[in-house]
Amino acid sequence: MVLLAVSCQDKTDTNPLLASYDTPYQTPPFDKIKHEHYMPALDSAISMAKHEVEAIINNPEEPTFENTIEALDRSGKLLANVSNILFNLNEAETDSVLQQIVIEASPKLTDFSNDINLNPELFKRVKTVWEKRDSLNLTQEQSMLLDKTYKGFVRNGANLSDADKEKFRAISRELSELSVKFNQNVLAETNNYYLHITKEDDLAGLPQSLIDAAAYTAKQKGVEGWVITLEYPMFGPFMKYADNRELRKEIYMAYTSRCFKGNEYDNQEIAKRIANLRLELANLLGYPNYATFVLENRMAETPEKVNEFLKQLIDASLPAAREEVKEVESYAHELGFKGKLERWDWSYYSEKLKNAKYSYNEEELKPYFQLEKVIDGVFLLANKLYGLTFSPNSEIPVYHPDVKAYEVYDATGKFMAILYLDFFPREGKSGGAWMTSFRSQYKEDGQDIRPLVSIVTNFTKPTDKQPSLLTFYEFSTFLHEFGHALHGMLTECNYSSLSGTSVYRDFVELPSQIMENFALEKEYLDLFAVHYQTGEKIPQELVQKIIDSRNFNAGYSSLRQLGFGSLDMAWHSVTKPITMSVSDFESKVLQPLDVLPPVKGTNMSVTFGHIFDGGYAAGYYGYKWAEVLDADAFEVFKEKGIFNPEVAKSFRENILSKGGTEHPMVLYKRFRGQEPTIDALLKRSGLKK
Ligand SMILES: [Zn+2]
Repeated sequence: MVLLAVSCQDKTDTNPLLASYDTPYQTPPFDKIKHEHYMPALDSAISMAKHEVEAIINNPEEPTFENTIEALDRSGKLLANVSNILFNLNEAETDSVLQQIVIEASPKLTDFSNDINLNPELFKRVKTVWEKRDSLNLTQEQSMLLDKTYKGFVRNGANLSDADKEKFRAISRELSELSVKFNQNVLAETNNYYLHITKEDDLAGLPQSLIDAAAYTAKQKGVEGWVITLEYPMFGPFMKYADNRELRKEIYMAYTSRCFKGNEYDNQEIAKRIANLRLELANLLGYPNYATFVLENRMAETPEKVNEFLKQLIDASLPAAREEVKEVESYAHELGFKGKLERWDWSYYSEKLKNAKYSYNEEELKPYFQLEKVIDGVFLLANKLYGLTFSPNSEIPVYHPDVKAYEVYDATGKFMAILYLDFFPREGKSGGAWMTSFRSQYKEDGQDIRPLVSIVTNFTKPTDKQPSLLTFYEFSTFLHEFGHALHGMLTECNYSSLSGTSVYRDFVELPSQIMENFALEKEYLDLFAVHYQTGEKIPQELVQKIIDSRNFNAGYSSLRQLGFGSLDMAWHSVTKPITMSVSDFESKVLQPLDVLPPVKGTNMSVTFGHIFDGGYAAGYYGYKWAEVLDADAFEVFKEKGIFNPEVAKSFRENILSKGGTEHPMVLYKRFRGQEPTIDALLKRSGLKK
């Protein structure tokens, strides 16, 4: 790979990342940013941030909350801007050069944050403030910031000896390089394969929309026939509908053996190394394992509590899942299938049984979820609940022509945020869907700096024959990410370290998952979910069928999530370095939960980006945890009316606007009136009558 050779560095005033943004709402000037701008901008931003921190350290005055804790929160804003752009684009619109820049930049950023977090003089100031915290008359938000800052230092090794600090630095640096590499391997293995279909017979069973998309993709790749990629909008439906069992098996194996084939993109040793390094890091800080270290800063608090939580839900799901497999298998036998169901048969026969029981398939729904109408519908929901309005602004620069930018206002006319929407898959975009931000919200010198929020997804593309018609799952995903975006946009905090989605990890999915509940409310769907050709409202029977079928195979789906959660906890609960193979390690955890035969040559851990290349290490259980919260919280909307303004107001004031300024359980109880219980979720998913 050729590194960027910049013979003479750009002058500051010609580097758009360093100049003040001459754009609407000071949004990033994507149209002007070139690859060669990143490294010089990062270097300048890092040295500027260093100066800001040095000024805090060298302040001759006694350490106070304002001159130390608050000043730290205010520092490094330019660096945050530059690195947000770099890392967000590396997920949404990358190429080999940008990836190389990230590889080069990551250790520099880690070094910088270690320079701060391991700086003894700075820590001394923070500790001085922390020790006199009771006499400072701090607001609730200020105490949270102080606590977070102090703990941040301690958890980053501030109390370590010099020798251990060196170890800490080395481990952090290696971890950051490994997780970048892990992600790049997954992306490469996803792009390196596609199923090329040349015989029309092999399309049997596929819905027309998938055939069209496959033909379109083939055309784009310049090959004859049809192409199915490993991107989920193609892979998922293919597994569900393709009659050709051999092809299902082939693409299943391709998908589940990514990064597990012993080639240059193999992630086995990387995963093991990451887990072992994390253990070393936790031990260094005085924790028995990494999970204990992580959970100290969570609503759930300890690994024991998480494992007990997972166990309760597994106990409720496993018997149901076993029954479901029996039922699907016996239905497959009725259809002439012989022998035992394999994993590449599961979606296919499940879908057939679901159709037999509920005589509806997801394809029937898609015409009611034309992307443009769904966008209107999602904006309308935000309007009915929180009075928000969205107006597109094409003057705001974007990083790809597919991206659209909106100005967001609340009912009082207050400007709340810029929202970017980026829907379609393309090479250079990671799989899945996420919300992120280019700038978080904070207040400074009496000015409220509003956030720049972005939603990135991989939704079904329009073709030359059809507009983008979303599956129900994609529609729910949109609502989910939009919920995160609301958390980011409606925030009203003073400090950027506490604003928006800067909350405990096992609380962050409440605002997103609660939005998914609206997807099944006919009263809401009637407002926008109309057939894209006939304009007819989504029929009541169809909505009823979604509701009836929602819990189809609920045991199996729940078990799958709990399996991921258990696997994550296992990787991070070890108290000794892992020596066994990744494959054996994974089997030990997942086999007791297996309801289908295991398949040799496949592995989940090696593409488990959430935990090896993201912030979900020892935190994947948080999705289920949040389901408990969202089912319990949505009960209030169900009781008082789904658009009830008082309920929405209370959710906005107590949850969405508060960020991490108070402990999540306190915020939750203020909204709900009591602690959450597991019952609402079990009832909603049909696991408890
Ligand atoms: Zn989420």
